[in-house]
Amino acid sequence: MEIARHCPSCGAALAPEGRFQRCTGCRRPYFRDPKVGVGVVVRNDAGQLLLVRRGNEPARGLWSLPAGFVDADEDPRAAAARECLEETGLLVEVGAVLEVYPSAEGAASFFLTFAATVVGGELRAGDDADEVGFFSTDHLPPLAFESTRAAVNDAGI
Ligand SMILES: [Zn+2]
Repeated sequence: MEIARHCPSCGAALAPEGRFQRCTGCRRPYFRDPKVGVGVVVRNDAGQLLLVRRGNEPARGLWSLPAGFVDADEDPRAAAARECLEETGLLVEVGAVLEVYPSAEGAASFFLTFAATVVGGELRAGDDADEVGFFSTDHLPPLAFESTRAAVNDAGI
């Protein structure tokens, strides 16, 4: 995550102070906002897990849950549904939070997974996914992130 080096108010240098920075000129504190990743755990009737192959770095060519970042002022469940639709073509109803993973890779400060159910759409790769599919646990493709492996593990499939 990019860290500002100069005070947006007075232009003086910022100095680290614990988990925030303080302006060396006007003494204002600056806090960094966390970047929130959300993903969905979707199974088909056979109990297989919906995964997407990443078309972009980081972890290009590896597989992850349909996932992305929550935009400012966006409902986290709406963000998870939006990312799933963009990447897989499937409309999902997003349910309960399954788990919260701290310090996820791929630039999120933390990563939430939700249970989700397909309610429409048609399976096709889109946005930054270049392939999509349902996989069973004993035939998983190479997974992208530690958080993906943890989420797949925790999903118990
Ligand atoms: Zn300042």
